[in-house]
Amino acid sequence: MPDLPAHASPGLPPHHSPSPGRLDGFNFSSSAHDPRRHALQDGAESQASHNEPPPSLISPAFTPPATPGSSTPSHPRPPRSIPVDTSLLSDAPAPSLLEQLPTVDCEVRARIPTTTGHEMWLHVYRNSVDTKEHLAIVFGNAIRSRSLDAERPGETELDRMTRGAYVGRLFPGRTSSRVEQIKRAAGVAPKASTSGGAKARIDSGYVDVSDGLLSPSSASSDSGDVQPGSDLELPLVRIHSECYTGETVWSARCDCGEQLDEAARLMADPTLSPSGGAIVYLRQEGRGIGLGEKLKAYNLQDLGNDTYEANLMLRHPADARSYGLATAMLMDLGLGGDRGIRLLTNNPDKVRAVEGPAREVVVRERVAMIPLAWKTGGKAGIKSEEVEKYLSTKIEKFKHMLSQK
Ligand SMILES: [Zn+2]
Repeated sequence: MPDLPAHASPGLPPHHSPSPGRLDGFNFSSSAHDPRRHALQDGAESQASHNEPPPSLISPAFTPPATPGSSTPSHPRPPRSIPVDTSLLSDAPAPSLLEQLPTVDCEVRARIPTTTGHEMWLHVYRNSVDTKEHLAIVFGNAIRSRSLDAERPGETELDRMTRGAYVGRLFPGRTSSRVEQIKRAAGVAPKASTSGGAKARIDSGYVDVSDGLLSPSSASSDSGDVQPGSDLELPLVRIHSECYTGETVWSARCDCGEQLDEAARLMADPTLSPSGGAIVYLRQEGRGIGLGEKLKAYNLQDLGNDTYEANLMLRHPADARSYGLATAMLMDLGLGGDRGIRLLTNNPDKVRAVEGPAREVVVRERVAMIPLAWKTGGKAGIKSEEVEKYLSTKIEKFKHMLSQK
């Protein structure tokens, strides 16, 4: 196919590139798999960083001024959030929302220790609109599913513990799903060999006997030391759409894997998110079009179209996702109502979509997610020509605000 330009050929004019030389880091041909290239490239980058601003991931016109300073401390620091109040946005076009929220039901949850050392609670949901197992990834003990905790006719205590409808933690020999048994265990001096483990965990505060009974804000009100504008007390929430390519098979075409990691990092850190957090993980691959169609879109992108154009060529809406399920799941997790949440997103449209048709969920603040490559001046995060195009398309076409302003 001599007429077609080779993908990523050095002769190809930079797409979306107002800054000459921006593609220098990618502008290699035969030495692409030469390990020496990385050393040379790294050397060139660090040298360049002394003389000029580090290379930006996308057009400098969109780069927030505070990024990508390599000296910017990013860990641990409360994520910067922007207060939002969608009730004030009467003139803005409302997203098309389902008039009625689907019903959702948490079937089972389990404790998942993670490779980072933190724990999370994985919740599997069923719902009234599709047959997929949508998920809630919950950090902390303050967030509980109403439908999971509800009594089911005829179930035994073992049934309840098996489907995860228990408070505190499971331990060998536990016979009741309810909090009373743990309280008794904590109050009565246990025999060293049998319940010593449980006792130790309780003593260290590992078992939260008040699990689900204590209001999440009461910890700080005990000390009478509630922070002014106590943003951090609001639970952190992310609505995340499944991305097999970005999360499982190391794709650098998008930043979904990185965003999922970052959301989990923020929620697992009690100083950044003392009330815990929840990632609603929706099985809507490829902005809702499915994996097969998403791969077709990738081929169209390699033929020179951006994400947005490729979806339209495949006769898919640019974004086929729907968030009614997320709203219903947040309500089930007790995150609906006036207290509000902090929503981790760069997409302002998502704020209203998540709030639901009758504002069943209230987003008090939007917390922007800055690509790791920007925060670290390119030292960490995804480096690829594709993710660069993806991010610039996101900004240009989907009006994402990848800025903390
Ligand atoms: Zn992705």
